[in-house]
Amino acid sequence: MPTIGAHSVNERTAALMARDAGFRATFPVSGRRVLVVGGGTAALAQVASLRDGGARVTVVAAHSVPSIEDLAERGVVTWHTRAYDRGDVVGHDLVVPASGDPLLDARVAAEAADAGTWCTVPDSGSSPRSEGGEDVGNCPNRGRVVLVGGGPGDPGLITVAGLEAVRSADVVVTDRLAPLGVLDGLDAEVVDVGKIPRGRSTPQEEINRVLVTHAAAGKRVVRLKGGDPFVFGRGGEEVEACVAAGIPVDVVPGVTSAIAGPALAGIPVTHRGLSQGFTVVSGHVPPGDPRSTLDWDALARSGTNLVLLMAVATLPAITETLVAAGLDPATPAATIADATLPTQRSVRADVATIAARVAAEGIGAPAITVVGDVAARPV
Ligand code: SAH
Repeated sequence: MPTIGAHSVNERTAALMARDAGFRATFPVSGRRVLVVGGGTAALAQVASLRDGGARVTVVAAHSVPSIEDLAERGVVTWHTRAYDRGDVVGHDLVVPASGDPLLDARVAAEAADAGTWCTVPDSGSSPRSEGGEDVGNCPNRGRVVLVGGGPGDPGLITVAGLEAVRSADVVVTDRLAPLGVLDGLDAEVVDVGKIPRGRSTPQEEINRVLVTHAAAGKRVVRLKGGDPFVFGRGGEEVEACVAAGIPVDVVPGVTSAIAGPALAGIPVTHRGLSQGFTVVSGHVPPGDPRSTLDWDALARSGTNLVLLMAVATLPAITETLVAAGLDPATPAATIADATLPTQRSVRADVATIAARVAAEGIGAPAITVVGDVAARPV
């Protein structure tokens, strides 16, 4: 079987180009076993795009960027933490060499061909924009930062302005919850600063430094974030860091998961006759924690729907506190995880039992819990 393919995977198909024959073809990846060799940012774009297309993705790499590690921890992809081995290509429907090492990628492609497994053509890695910074000194003033809200994860939910900014960027500094599929096919240098809950993370000061340093070198930097940059996204701090360094900075708002997550499970955050408002809060620390600034008793009495972000581990404490503060234990509740992604799932219960349901179903972050009458709306 010939080696085919360009490095582009879109929607639910892999777009392949036969280099010798000179035509493009598509390869439906939904449900297919796809091996990605490599764990760097080049592999990340491929992994994310394949994941969006519903492929069963296995990654082989001794090391990975945080966002691939995060996908593996969430069970979205399988990651073999070791070097590529010849036998790895066997048993897959498609092989994607994306190690960034041209020799290794070529070897993987050759071994896939030997094994009769379809394989994309390795990226040459010769992207003009991602190389060095030598030429940017000619135009030092064009350096700037754009904070782009990428929406809850599906590449279809980034805004038109956000996508344009990403496509014209020299450097994209990305998060694990950003729509990683939009990175596929970019010429830009990609920097993964994903923060994994209770795992690997890049300190905010370091993220700020990366943004400012690249922009100061004359690069157009996009800070691609999940949801909206200003909803628990630390976008305000990044704007401040840029302003303090004299770097021009713009913000492209995004579709926040606080609204889109419930919507994708059929739950409107407001509904005429049911609620006149909704309150979005972070549950990253439980009620009573010295770091908590929320008045949970007041929230229980607010008469609005509550939308809880970063509240999987703390859900038992939060729901107990709400009920103890007088919220009817029969108040409907719903938890939506991995909203917009092929792994999206949701559970519904009442506020007294939702935490137990979430634990029983093994639901992990990222997830959103809605508490209020709207959570009982039929899908
Ligand atoms: N700026 C983001 C929120 C960042 S805080 C936004 O506006 O959406 C991270 C939290 O957002 C997660 O812990 C989870 O509660 C929520 N979240 C983000 N993406 C999500 C998704 N696809 N599905 C479910 N929850 C999500």
